[in-house]
Amino acid sequence: TTDDVKGCFRRNAFVILTVLAVIVGIILGFGLRPYKMSYREVKYFSFPGELLMRMLQMLVLPLLVSSLITGMAALDSRASGKMGMRAVVYYTTTTIIAVFIGIVMVLIIHPGRGSKDEFTKQEKIEQVSPADAFLDLIRYEFKTQYAKRVVTVKVLVNETLFSLNNGSQELRREEVIPVLGTVNGINALGLVVFSMCFGFIIGSMKEQGQPLRDFFDCLNEAIMRLVAIIMWYAPLGIMFLIAGKIVEMDDISEMGGQLGMYTITVIIGLLIHAVIVLPSLYFLVTRKNPFVFIAGLLQALVTALGTSSSSATLPITFRCLEENNHVDKRVTRFVLPVGATINMDGTALYEALAAIFIAQVNDMDLNFGEILTISITATAASIGAAGIPQAGLVTMVIVLTSVGLPTDDITLIIAVDWFLDRLRTTTNVLGDSIGAGIVEHLSRHELHATDPEIANSVVEE
Ligand code: ASP
Repeated sequence: TTDDVKGCFRRNAFVILTVLAVIVGIILGFGLRPYKMSYREVKYFSFPGELLMRMLQMLVLPLLVSSLITGMAALDSRASGKMGMRAVVYYTTTTIIAVFIGIVMVLIIHPGRGSKDEFTKQEKIEQVSPADAFLDLIRYEFKTQYAKRVVTVKVLVNETLFSLNNGSQELRREEVIPVLGTVNGINALGLVVFSMCFGFIIGSMKEQGQPLRDFFDCLNEAIMRLVAIIMWYAPLGIMFLIAGKIVEMDDISEMGGQLGMYTITVIIGLLIHAVIVLPSLYFLVTRKNPFVFIAGLLQALVTALGTSSSSATLPITFRCLEENNHVDKRVTRFVLPVGATINMDGTALYEALAAIFIAQVNDMDLNFGEILTISITATAASIGAAGIPQAGLVTMVIVLTSVGLPTDDITLIIAVDWFLDRLRTTTNVLGDSIGAGIVEHLSRHELHATDPEIANSVVEE
């Protein structure tokens, strides 16, 4: 029986370690709070967590590029077209549902009752006109001031493949917060589009494209092996990320009143989406137990909670889906990088809810048209938001300006955003993963028909 126990531990090692990491992290964090560490001490203390964050971020770029290129190159145009359509339908449907839940929750619970004086104002944010915000989103540049820092970000169209935030070069590196679509200063959305086109071309080159297909395949495999090693370090990193954040957070007792109600409203909304809507959708389509699927994703979900970045979590999401849930690699490679970049259910829900909350605090009655505008812009803002910490807070500017709400009031919710960010990121990662499961199920016939192994065995017969 000791062998049984050992075997059981080995099989579930990641789950056990991950759960332990969260529990120990929380205990450690609250245990150390009374010692009131200085800013510097907290930074030293959470260093193992920062290390994890950096290791994951380092892998995102090569992983995104190699998986999308090989994913596209491995599918014929008909299969990739169909799969792409299914993914787009899934992303759109779930995002709309998420926004709807956010709006309904904030209207029912109405957390923004009372006066605005309850809040302590923190930092100023520059006013951007709605037209500018929209045009810039499409054009490629988005300038705003966030927390006294000027942010210039390139979206959709990149001049160079690996451009840093050119517009902000005169600023010190740490003052630049990449927001819309950029990860580590690299335009993720632009890179996704480029990689898909490139992979498509390689796929269409048949024999001639083989060396490049082999190259990116091999690159992808090598990165995934690196990820496999990092996964062993992840629980330790997550433990320190969580503990560090708890040590450093502001006093919770100050968070009474409207802000407390607001936090609860967001949590309920996200829970409804993550625990009821997404699993039901998975069950309806695949007729399989959604919670078995979600259990396989545990480490990815906890990593999302720890890092508050769906991009940084991407490597782990890949491993969980492929190794634990055995989702076809051709699907994950194609669907996940796109999903992590544009499909953010949690963020969409949050943006709509937060905007209406700010209207409530300002005693502004919104009519149906304005609520509709909020739902459309919240969807756009969630697509534009990068998978990095608190990106959603900054893209809120677009939502607020679209109905003439004061962008300054983003500062009202900054105090709790670090926490809610973690929860919405976890919802985002869950949405992408369930999407991969659903798209795989719907595409099973095409996948089966073009499976290289099956095709070979048929030829041999
Ligand atoms: N942090 C979120 C993510 O990475 C984005 C957001 O701020 O809503 O998915």
